[in-house]
Amino acid sequence: MSKFWSPAVSELTPYIPGEQPRERLIKLNTNENPYPPAPGVGAVLREFPTDHLRLYPDPESRALRESLGRTFGVDADQVFVGNGSDEVLALAFQAFFRQERPLEMPDITYSFYPVYCRLYGVERRALPLNARWEVDLDAFDSDCGGVIFANPNAPTGHGHGREAIAGLLERITDSVVLVDEAYVDFGGESAVSLVERFPNLLVTGTFSKSRSLAGLRLGYAVGSRELIEGLTRVKNSFNSYPVDSLASAVAIATLEDTDHFEACREKVITTRERTRRQLESLGFEVLPSRANFVLVSHPDFDAAQLFVGLRERGILVRHFNTDALRNFLRITIGTDDEMDSLVETLELLCA
Ligand SMILES: *Cc1c(COP(=O)(O)O)cnc(C)c1O
Repeated sequence: MSKFWSPAVSELTPYIPGEQPRERLIKLNTNENPYPPAPGVGAVLREFPTDHLRLYPDPESRALRESLGRTFGVDADQVFVGNGSDEVLALAFQAFFRQERPLEMPDITYSFYPVYCRLYGVERRALPLNARWEVDLDAFDSDCGGVIFANPNAPTGHGHGREAIAGLLERITDSVVLVDEAYVDFGGESAVSLVERFPNLLVTGTFSKSRSLAGLRLGYAVGSRELIEGLTRVKNSFNSYPVDSLASAVAIATLEDTDHFEACREKVITTRERTRRQLESLGFEVLPSRANFVLVSHPDFDAAQLFVGLRERGILVRHFNTDALRNFLRITIGTDDEMDSLVETLELLCA
């Protein structure tokens, strides 16, 4: 608390990101990609004309939006880009969710959403997951100020198919439905192709996970021109240049290399299924996952103690200290070698 802060700042409960350790650990706590970005990225960085940094970047990020438009089969006018999808989400909260009626979301989902609700004074209605730990699409009430959830969801890993999302959009037509597809490339089904049919659908995505560029800070949204214009109005009232010229050039080179992208995501998916079987044979319950992480619990061992045991042996995973998730660990899928170390260490701890 400080007398210098705006009064509302005392009321905030900031998001706590996963630790970025200084020592060398096997890092399975923030869902980064274990594989390097596309090889073309090195050449872009080496050859980038230094003098270009003297100038402001294109405020409309036209070239990057065109490249994303080609990737998703939509027009550049249906694409928005920002400094990480966290920023895109923040702008979406301001553009669409400051309504009379509450914003609806699952009670277990990306924990940044409640933080934005506080920051922007958005009332929140949290709905329980169903008995299979899935986002209960039928629970969303059409009389709401908007809907937001991650699909696949975090930290559970369950993802709904496109038809299920279309069903929700048939029902909720008067407010924005934001589907956060940060993890869709690891086995989920994207709703991007539905944006032509549903003008209230906004799909967000990120270069941080499947594109191995978490350090670059780049996210995007795809939706109707109406929604993109709303986001652009807010962006231009906040920061005209959220995407720098270097990030834009790197991102375009990344999108062009589909072979590298496919190979990396397939490796992650294969390793995930292998890890799942290994953890199950140690007695863990592993929720089915379409993401680059698994949420696991063990009937005989306390998750917080396993977290500490792993950490002492050089392996960092994520433990959430909430009532619903206290018994679980969220484990990012790394390389096969990293996952072998994880499984061996858990074998020791659960002996
Ligand atoms: C990682 C993540 C993001 C944030 O991505 P950035 O582009 O790195 O800001 C957004 N939503 C979900 C569900 C995530 O897991």
